[in-house]
Amino acid sequence: MNRSSDLTALEDRYGAHNYHPLPVVLAEGEGAWVTDTEGNRYLDWLAAYSAVNFGHRHPRLVAAAKAQLDRLTLASRAFHTDTLGPFLSGLAELCGKDAVLPMNTGAEAVETAIKAARKWGYTRKGVAPGKARIVVFDGNFHGRTTTIVGFSSDPDSYEGFGPYDGGFDSVPYGDTEALHAAIGPDTVAVLIEPVQGEAGVVVPPAGYLRAVRAACDANGVLMIADEIQSGLARTGRTFACDREDVVPDVYLLGKALGGGIVPVSAVVADREVMDVFSPGTHGSTFGGNPLAAAVATEVVAMLATGEWQARALELGKHLEGALTGLDGVDGVRVCGLWAGVDLADGGPTAREVCERAASLGLLCKETHRRTVRIAPPLVVTPEEIDRGIATLKQAIAG
Ligand code: PLP
Repeated sequence: MNRSSDLTALEDRYGAHNYHPLPVVLAEGEGAWVTDTEGNRYLDWLAAYSAVNFGHRHPRLVAAAKAQLDRLTLASRAFHTDTLGPFLSGLAELCGKDAVLPMNTGAEAVETAIKAARKWGYTRKGVAPGKARIVVFDGNFHGRTTTIVGFSSDPDSYEGFGPYDGGFDSVPYGDTEALHAAIGPDTVAVLIEPVQGEAGVVVPPAGYLRAVRAACDANGVLMIADEIQSGLARTGRTFACDREDVVPDVYLLGKALGGGIVPVSAVVADREVMDVFSPGTHGSTFGGNPLAAAVATEVVAMLATGEWQARALELGKHLEGALTGLDGVDGVRVCGLWAGVDLADGGPTAREVCERAASLGLLCKETHRRTVRIAPPLVVTPEEIDRGIATLKQAIAG
């Protein structure tokens, strides 16, 4: 069976309906391009929500995965492996931090950081047991676990899944006064996306990340940067925090860390925070597995040269220029090779634009009703950006 309608029906019949995919059935991918079961090619401008930053099946990453497949794929953390140490040391160095705790999905990294921050608060800051609080931001997206959706401001994410365990205070993103007001004696951490991806590539006002850093410093609170979508070259820097020369206490990484091949996430911090964990207090069967470590080691080596960051910066300028003055568009936010395009009221919805774009050979994805999110793989060329923008124009015009 390979007709796209049959395959879509099969997913619909046997799958949970927790996604609303665009009507394309992909079978192959290479670089910035994907091909469907009928042989139609599409320019991929979603890059699996930035998990495919290096393009589909990057030869260096595929080679690392293949070599590892022939040696050892899973051992669990009951034993040491010859792949884990090199991965941990490389990533710690890239982040300028002491230590790494590997997990698999982004949500797991966020959960791990929440546990670390709370325990740090109890054991290092002297917060009374069970009282630790974490400041988060309206419009946040940190994943889908019950703890995380419990502090989401999006009803689709949280409604019907409670009870939630509390301990979070949400403030408007970009509002320094509200942040200061929310931080109290029991606050152990501020958990922030340096750019809010799912909210529509929302870039905070200039200086805001520095203000968050200062507020954390003034109050003895950990700054946790969720760089799962924004990190690893997407914004033209290794981390979006670098754009303001801010160094958080904890980096959360995921998505692109697995090279678009395997799920790999990580919490990266100095010993003072990481050492709240002792044997038996946290873990994951698959976290840091040899296949993941081999691919992620290669990802880190690729990022260590700075080429990908520079490329994202250059291409981002090109994208920004190409997006200027589009008809039917109300506003555009660009940050590196990443953009949120707000469609004007009264025109087509973001979903309609993405469906039309797909039928014209361009894959991008709506986020909320009026925003199209653009995140091409960093291997895209300036010519492909121009081609994509021409298609997007056509899709908006209908
Ligand atoms: N944090 C951020 C900023 C994200 O964008 C996402 C996913 O989109 C996550 C966490 C959750 O990652 P995962 O879907 O791998 O659990």
